[in-house]
Amino acid sequence: VDRQQEFVLRTLEERDIRFVRLWFTDILGTLKSVSVAPAELESAFEEGIGFDGSAIEGFARVYESDMVAMPDPSSFQVFPFEGGLHGESARMFCDIKMPDGSPSWADPRHVLRRALDRASEKGFSFYTHPEIEFYLMDEVPADGSPPIPVDSGGYFDHTTHSAARDFRRQAVLALERIGISVEFSHHEVAPGQQEIDLRYADALATADNVMTFRHVVKEVALSQGVYATFMPKPFSDQPGSGMHTHLSLFTGENNAFHDPTDGMKLSTVGRQFIAGLLVHAREFTAVTNQWVNSYKRLFGAPLDGRITESPAYVCWGHLNRSALVRVPAYGKANSARVEVRSIDSACNPYLTFAVLLAAGLRGIEKGYELPAGAEDDVSALTEAERRAMGFTDLPHNLSDALRVMETSELIAETLGEHVFDFFLKNKRAEWEDFRSQVTPYERMRYLPSL
Ligand code: GLU
Ligand code: MG
Ligand code: MG
Repeated sequence: VDRQQEFVLRTLEERDIRFVRLWFTDILGTLKSVSVAPAELESAFEEGIGFDGSAIEGFARVYESDMVAMPDPSSFQVFPFEGGLHGESARMFCDIKMPDGSPSWADPRHVLRRALDRASEKGFSFYTHPEIEFYLMDEVPADGSPPIPVDSGGYFDHTTHSAARDFRRQAVLALERIGISVEFSHHEVAPGQQEIDLRYADALATADNVMTFRHVVKEVALSQGVYATFMPKPFSDQPGSGMHTHLSLFTGENNAFHDPTDGMKLSTVGRQFIAGLLVHAREFTAVTNQWVNSYKRLFGAPLDGRITESPAYVCWGHLNRSALVRVPAYGKANSARVEVRSIDSACNPYLTFAVLLAAGLRGIEKGYELPAGAEDDVSALTEAERRAMGFTDLPHNLSDALRVMETSELIAETLGEHVFDFFLKNKRAEWEDFRSQVTPYERMRYLPSL
């Protein structure tokens, strides 16, 4: 038993915790959980907990269905806010292994670890800082008609006695109590829309934190009688929910994107990283935006005359909020970073961080040249103007995105063959299902006149 394992076992005993949840994530980013009694944990650290992988999205081909979840003691966390009724509980993330002890090729956490290992072979560690947007609804009608948001607030609104403000306070407290530091939280542009930004951390911890975040936010919402959703675009006429993520590479203690002599204070490594993101953006979009609905958000046209702040074109800009990649102004040397704005709040954070890192690293390895940045609102340009500037479109829908992804050697290599194949197959089926639907929009538009 190593020291971290010992700490876990001692804490369980001292705090009289009866349930330990072992968490992992399927390929689509759904949280999976199995509870074990503390008495089982010592052996779980040794041998893991067996489960039938064939029951879980993407985990196994039928003939290889036995899988083992190995708890990662460094992710141990007590969940104090579930006190009262059930007593305290705790959770640990797991790495998924094959029965012979080798890592499972279906485990998204393993996909990210592998990408991080590649970065560290080159001397880099990878940090991420997600800004997570989501909606709070009073009601979610089962018939698919539009949900009712909890308030009519807008950007940075501070409304007294508002359900949302109280919600944010409770959610932030709950997150802080389980060791997830929140940097900012505020009301977003649309009624009911919220944003909570997590402090930057290494990408594996951040991905675990995003999974925990979604769980906690949903639980806190339920406890207040409201409903939280990370659906990318719940309303046609309101902005969607993005998960803009700030990325940085460090070599040891130093931020590798920082160069004090540059105009934007961005190093050559930083420029090559952005160039890698741009060259491979169309290939990784199916991963960062994995649902049919995701593409309703990545749509450049203005909403009611307001500019959309979600990107639709492949370009970068300094301080430009219509660009796919933005270089924010920063103060301290170690805060140098780039913000990717296409990602949505319903992505699988492990796979997302893995493909972004791989794209950026490819830019560094191959010494990609950074093209000129975009200075204006790119969505206000004409298509011809954009073409002249070399700004290509992000995929328009899931089908387009899958077509580009399936030709990508970079994404295949980063996800590994199993995840790559499963993902394409699963997502094609989702697209075909959607494609077969005749929608209310079509009936309203065509029935009266055709
Ligand atoms: N909600 C916008 C999006 O879908 C982002 C708004 C913002 O800039 O924070 O990406
Ligand atoms: Mg925002
Ligand atoms: Mg942002």
